[in-house]
Amino acid sequence: MIKICPDCHSTWAGGQRCEDCGGVLRDPFGAEAKELPPSMWGYIRLQYGARRGMLVRVMAILLAPVTFGATLRSGAGCERPWSIVLGVVAFPVGFLTWWSIHWLAGRAVRIWVLRKGQVNKRRLVRALARRALRPLGAPDRR
Ligand SMILES: [Zn+2]
Repeated sequence: MIKICPDCHSTWAGGQRCEDCGGVLRDPFGAEAKELPPSMWGYIRLQYGARRGMLVRVMAILLAPVTFGATLRSGAGCERPWSIVLGVVAFPVGFLTWWSIHWLAGRAVRIWVLRKGQVNKRRLVRALARRALRPLGAPDRR
């Protein structure tokens, strides 16, 4: 829970009084929070977004050994060439699971938290689609 000081605009992880100026800390979802400057809101969003991104990354760390184990286990039940193939790819599969979730969490925080309200969603989808459909070797238009 983030608390804010209405006097000096600093943010705190909790507590009753501001350690900088001694003002009474407020809840950012209270009625008086509507008068806060937009930069404060950006900071509050960043705090919550970073926390959310951290939770997703913890999930990635927990899911990587699960996919590694599942791939290894399915390989143990296969016939000869496939059991070796699945045994070899089990570690890359686990690593790729961790890496892709970790990377996506970072992208999501950057796009949906830091740029909230600054990015036109329809334009973003169009740009991503254009980039995905761009033929290989074509120059990146911006
Ligand atoms: Zn203060």
